[in-house]
Amino acid sequence: MNICGYHGQFLIRGLFAKMIFSDPDFRIPRRHKASWFLEILTVWIVLVITEALLAAETQGSASPVQPCNGQGLGKPGSCRLQCRSDFENGSGVVEQLDQKQGRIWLRPTEHKDRGWPCWWFVHVTGIPPGQIITLEVIGGHGEYARPERAAFSLDGKTWQQTSPGQRSQDRIVYQQKIEAGEAYFAWGPPFRLSDAERLLAEATKKFPWVQKFELCRSKEGRSVPALRIAEPGLPESERFGVWVIARQHAWESGSSWVAWGLIDWLASEEPAAAELRKKASLTIVPIMDVDNVCRGAGGKEQKPQDHNRDWSAEPYWPEVQAVQSAIRQWDSQGRMDLFLDLHNPGRGDRQPFFFVPPEQLLREPGRRNLARFLEAARTEITQPIPLAPSPRTAGPKYDARWDRISKNWVSRHCRPHVVALCLETPWDTPHSTIDGYMSVGRSLGRTIARYFQQNPRSP
Ligand SMILES: [Zn+2]
Repeated sequence: MNICGYHGQFLIRGLFAKMIFSDPDFRIPRRHKASWFLEILTVWIVLVITEALLAAETQGSASPVQPCNGQGLGKPGSCRLQCRSDFENGSGVVEQLDQKQGRIWLRPTEHKDRGWPCWWFVHVTGIPPGQIITLEVIGGHGEYARPERAAFSLDGKTWQQTSPGQRSQDRIVYQQKIEAGEAYFAWGPPFRLSDAERLLAEATKKFPWVQKFELCRSKEGRSVPALRIAEPGLPESERFGVWVIARQHAWESGSSWVAWGLIDWLASEEPAAAELRKKASLTIVPIMDVDNVCRGAGGKEQKPQDHNRDWSAEPYWPEVQAVQSAIRQWDSQGRMDLFLDLHNPGRGDRQPFFFVPPEQLLREPGRRNLARFLEAARTEITQPIPLAPSPRTAGPKYDARWDRISKNWVSRHCRPHVVALCLETPWDTPHSTIDGYMSVGRSLGRTIARYFQQNPRSP
């Protein structure tokens, strides 16, 4: 809330100071000038105090681009209930706040041209421990902004789900008793750029055969981190080449947790993981659209097009350009075999499923390999929710821009044996938690290992 606004204040002050003290044409008696000045000063002070009180009551998002150093999380406030989103990946404008009832009316922050407003993530402070916080989420992009259960956390690291919210028309009301002075609430478990940096750095430190590198710099100059996993074994030319990307759509935080589950499994002591990392080179990019993740924007359908409609001859986004160029190089050297793009689907989708390229892009032995990969996935992806029995096709009937979708670009530009798919993991189920997503990621790892038990390059 901003009653007078800083610009207004400067204008009023400037005008009257000029009128009273410096303008030679402004001729009124000196005593009147002094009393006018005092009156204006009093009104201005009242306005500033009122504004400060209202601002303390209703805090929303601050600047549109947030720093990505992970230090931005709000500090616990006084005993007054406050709700803010001015930190990395934060989103949410407080429309109203009821101190006594502990009720917050929240709307996902709109970022012009930055995609669907469906992501929200706020920090609530000044909670009397034991109070029930009522969070009413309004608007956003259809029901995409309103999962049945919200995610909440007392420390910003460990996330749980609330019980199902009460849904009505354009809103949903979540209630959660908080046994602490502060809590975080979000659309789903957040996975920020700082999380990616930290987790990837930890993995690199732990295992000599894990290498963190910068994929590219984003449009806004951020470093886009990626990981390569390859344990010494076979020479590079004989290794299977795998590229996995996640989060082309910034709001789909679950897809980054699936990627992290995959990394966690690949680095594990499970014999299939140890065998796979000795015979393959796997590159994983846990967040593609880092700028919108930091901003807290949705990304989907952003301008001029979102990352997953940017796979053309001249991509707009540096991340797409970097992955394309690496895949072209790997393929030209004969070491590209598998591409996976990780997403979260529509709200109604309750089982993980794959999108596959349309028939017209498939050649042998790629068609056979795709069937074999899907068979391996049906065997391995059973927990916490089994894989849907059939894949879906992302062809002309799915989207007029089907030929600008990642896996279709890979299918079209790589050797015929290369398999390219998109995995959609549901976000609106009781299993859409960090554990649930990571479990899908581990199963995906076992799927890849099973698939490479046969050589996909054989004709
Ligand atoms: Zn998506």
